[in-house]
Amino acid sequence: MPDTGRCSAAHEDDRTPCAGPHDAVTILDGHANAAPGCEHHGARMLASIDGAHVEPGSVVGAATRVLAAADTIRPFCWYENAPRTEASQLSHAENRARNV
Ligand SMILES: [Zn+2]
Repeated sequence: MPDTGRCSAAHEDDRTPCAGPHDAVTILDGHANAAPGCEHHGARMLASIDGAHVEPGSVVGAATRVLAAADTIRPFCWYENAPRTEASQLSHAENRARNV
């Protein structure tokens, strides 16, 4: 049962609430799919999909904040017991730190 109380960028397994307007940003998945989302879930979705992009939505400056936040968010971070050893399981910032 989809939770219609949240933005469309919220993953169904991610139980966190939205933060701000549900169309603050738009996340493009690189395959012609676009999902409007709040800043919180937009950043989480952006961090979780390879090749995804963020576009500005209804909130000025939100896309820039989402882009910065996604850099430090682990892919599918709501799976708190998932292994975090492979590069694909870590955030971009963590992978950069590893490769120094
Ligand atoms: Zn949301």
